[in-house]
Amino acid sequence: MDYREKFLVDPTKKLLLGDIDPNHTGEHTTKDSAEPLTNQYREQMEAEQFLLYADGRQSLLVVLQALDAAGKDGVIRHVFSAMNPQGTRVHGFKQPTPEEAAHDFLWRAHAHVPADGEVVIFNRSHYEDVLVVRVHDLVPESIWSQRYDKINEFERLLTENGTKILKFFLHISPEEQLERFKKRLDDPQRHWKISESDYSERKFWPQYLEAYQDALSKTSTPHAPWYIIPANYKWFRNLAISQIIADTLKGMGLELPPTRVNIDDIKAHYHAAVKAANGKNP
Ligand code: ATP
Ligand code: MG
Repeated sequence: MDYREKFLVDPTKKLLLGDIDPNHTGEHTTKDSAEPLTNQYREQMEAEQFLLYADGRQSLLVVLQALDAAGKDGVIRHVFSAMNPQGTRVHGFKQPTPEEAAHDFLWRAHAHVPADGEVVIFNRSHYEDVLVVRVHDLVPESIWSQRYDKINEFERLLTENGTKILKFFLHISPEEQLERFKKRLDDPQRHWKISESDYSERKFWPQYLEAYQDALSKTSTPHAPWYIIPANYKWFRNLAISQIIADTLKGMGLELPPTRVNIDDIKAHYHAAVKAANGKNP
């Protein structure tokens, strides 16, 4: 199954998140059947990221968006741990600081986009400015409604500069969210993750779905596609995301850069160095 096709948001069709099953696990019924495949994709991701870094001409930006407890942190832990930390960065988007709020909404995102050869993960992103901001009327509609076009232009600019962009919406059900809140409550190790806003935001579930539907369909473009990942089952979520990332990297035509030195000359240097070392330490 090609999840890049299956979970892609088609901007020409009306998107109804309510019609998409967060319990979907495709042909896999258990974690045991999915995990070997996920591991294969993780290995592929590791190899491709090595090439991305060595190649140094392109970069990857992964945007993770979801409601609370949908698993953004889990994706970062399970999926991205396949990559070498050298060349990989995560940037989280919290409520804007006074300095960030004093700039245009894309300023703080632009400051953290990947450099050539890098992979950057946005844990939340510039999309908060058409999601939480819209749901809570933090700016008037006349302002947020113009942001979709600006986001598309911004993402086009990054793409033209060599950045591949992948955007994932982790889709869970309200029942699954409540289950996960319970697990956090039952486990003192996870109490630090609990916040009152998790519960107050939950009340806005329909408004968030509406805001997401609009955002996803207005900004799923060929250069920066959105994927809706059924995320009630963590193992399926990890499988789908790792496949999409591994296959995308594979399609980027990454290659080792040409050797910068004359290998025959270097071999001569090497043999001379061995000889000198042997002379000193017989
Ligand atoms: P977790 O899922 O682990 O709780 P989190 O991403 O929810 O992590 P928090 O510190 O709990 O992290 O929440 C960050 C909060 O900042 C979110 O509620 C998010 O909606 C809010 N936020 C992010 N960007 C903006 C923005 N531009 N304007 C207003 N609020 C924002
Ligand atoms: Mg939170």
